[in-house]
Amino acid sequence: MFEKILIANRGEIALRILRACKELGIATVAVHSTADADAMHVRLADESVCIGPPASKDSYLNIPSLLAACEITGADAVHPGYGFLSENARFAEILADHNLKFIGPKAEHIRLMGDKIEAKKTAKRLGIPVVPGSDGGVGPEDDAIAIAREIGFPVLVKAAAGGGGRGMKVAQTEADLLMALSTASNEAKAAFGDASVYLEKYLTKPRHIEIQVLGDGRGGALHLGERDCSLQRRHQKVWEEGPSPILSPEARARIGGICAKAMQDMQYLGVGTIEFLYEDGEFYFIEMNTRIQVEHPVTEMITDIDLVLEQIRIAAGGDLPCTQEEVNIIGHSIECRINAENPETFRPSPGTITQYHAPGGLGVRIDSAVYQGYKIPPYYDSLVGKLIVHGKNRPECLMRLRRALDEIVVDGVETTLPLFRALARESDIIEGDYHIHWLEQYLAGKAPKT
Ligand code: ADP
Repeated sequence: MFEKILIANRGEIALRILRACKELGIATVAVHSTADADAMHVRLADESVCIGPPASKDSYLNIPSLLAACEITGADAVHPGYGFLSENARFAEILADHNLKFIGPKAEHIRLMGDKIEAKKTAKRLGIPVVPGSDGGVGPEDDAIAIAREIGFPVLVKAAAGGGGRGMKVAQTEADLLMALSTASNEAKAAFGDASVYLEKYLTKPRHIEIQVLGDGRGGALHLGERDCSLQRRHQKVWEEGPSPILSPEARARIGGICAKAMQDMQYLGVGTIEFLYEDGEFYFIEMNTRIQVEHPVTEMITDIDLVLEQIRIAAGGDLPCTQEEVNIIGHSIECRINAENPETFRPSPGTITQYHAPGGLGVRIDSAVYQGYKIPPYYDSLVGKLIVHGKNRPECLMRLRRALDEIVVDGVETTLPLFRALARESDIIEGDYHIHWLEQYLAGKAPKT
């Protein structure tokens, strides 16, 4: 097992990793920018190292500084959390070159899944169902209109290097398509330095359902059920739950089995998420994330498996925690991502939290790094914390969620709490009747009429 882990991240996920290290008796090193000197992950770690100025590129993304921090503290492994360097294959390789363990998948798998065109080809080869679309990138030499006609309109133009919903454009008609191709490609070039785009059938009312997987890197792999993340704004997840309100045990076993088998064939190592759109009873692969995800607590609550702890154990050469037959889905869980943002305009609202009270009681979990008096810096994401609720079934879970949302106090900054309080009382949400465009439509309906 590792003796000392350096946590190359900040905020709630840094704290989450710290908790797993404490349970395993592993010493911890926090790294931080000058803007995060007072952060909770710095206070709670055994040691801390300042790695640079506020801008992420100079601190949390600064590989030489991180290597120096490992060297100074004698850390033997690095946990990247999510975001920042978590899906950077080069970083994983550099760590290996320095005899440091990267707590994550093999570099080749990170690279493969980071390129969405390659990822889709791999998925198809491994027997995972994919969205109908162009078989590869669509360049100026290709007859995009002919490809789109074959797929059928509307089509979605997507960036090969895409992420966070950027570089995506819908084309309803042939006339729209050329424009969508050039806008998406320019946006992709600006955001990711790679202009390649591809085409996919645009699904009109799908749900976003993702399967959590865990592999030992030697051909053993499990699936841990699904999370339904259909409530999104600008392709960003807002509310996640598991199990999906609409998936039958048979459908779960079928898609889960396909994913676990694919991971066995790849000899995948560590945690991963295979994302699908689900429409009319069919699953369509969209991408695979080769890291721990923001919404991982939902799976932890319904399987009672500590994903971060398992990530660490498996990176150190450990075995899978159980067999597939031993994975039990227990009850229901919902996670709300509470952001410091105006609940109507979603404009970030950094500032000092003047009053803070975390809700408690049976079935309530808060993953957050804030405290009363904490100043949310303007340089990073605006996540205040995640409220995760568990109940023996969905109605009980919703009941507890409403209670917890009414109890939590975050004053001094604007937050998205009022949105969640309203959502938890909406009849479509209570009935589980929503798809990936539901939230945008709901928000548009609420917008002041001009
Ligand atoms: P990113 O890496 O930018 O997050 P994804 O491929 O995961 O991109 O897609 C993000 C979101 O965009 C999905 O959750 C879904 O809401 C929407 N989306 C992606 N592909 C399609 C599609 N073919 N049809 C309809 N919506 C899609």
